[in-house]
Amino acid sequence: MSSPHHLHATAAAASLHDALSGLEGHALAAARDAIVGTSAFHDIPLASPAWGRRHALGGHGDPTASIALGAWAPGAPDPHAALLGDMLRQLDQAAAHLPGAPGQDPLTRIRRAIPAMSVHAATRTTEALEHLDRAARRRLGVSAPWRHLTGRECPACRERLMYELACVPEPRPVRCQAADCRCTGAGCRCGMPGAVEGVQHIWPRDAVIGAVAGATPSPTN
Ligand SMILES: [Zn+2]
Repeated sequence: MSSPHHLHATAAAASLHDALSGLEGHALAAARDAIVGTSAFHDIPLASPAWGRRHALGGHGDPTASIALGAWAPGAPDPHAALLGDMLRQLDQAAAHLPGAPGQDPLTRIRRAIPAMSVHAATRTTEALEHLDRAARRRLGVSAPWRHLTGRECPACRERLMYELACVPEPRPVRCQAADCRCTGAGCRCGMPGAVEGVQHIWPRDAVIGAVAGATPSPTN
């Protein structure tokens, strides 16, 4: 399903995954610092290639979650690890009733469930994931992963405030971040798949770049 509600939810899940990966990186670094010189932990394969590449976040028995929970970190828990653990617990609760193997990354389960969600559930999911994303990014001191598309014009409001979600592979979702730009529903110039009145404009990149490319070069617009 590619209604704007579902696109927003999927984008929020991708952004949160990016933010959690950032927290995970800090947590792993803190864990490495904590075990230096601690012989009891010398056999923990923190630098293993498998860990270096993994993106699985959370789930019971997940070593990343164990680090996040500070299970064996001596001294004060790393704030990034503490926040990551807190968020993974919240995501575990949110994913508890979704399909998926026990212990599977809860954010992946949520993301996979989005296409089948009702509009209401997708909207609530977006709100919840964006809330966690903002908290994670505040801790990390990084901004949202939406990158300005220079010169690209919104087909609805004509503002050049089009942003693409830079933390995912192509084709990336694109949205208009003009404060007062909202879909007017059927007949809206946005051309958004499944136009819905009141929703922030978001498009699959393929759907909007064509429209924008046709509008931008014209000097009379
Ligand atoms: Zn707009």
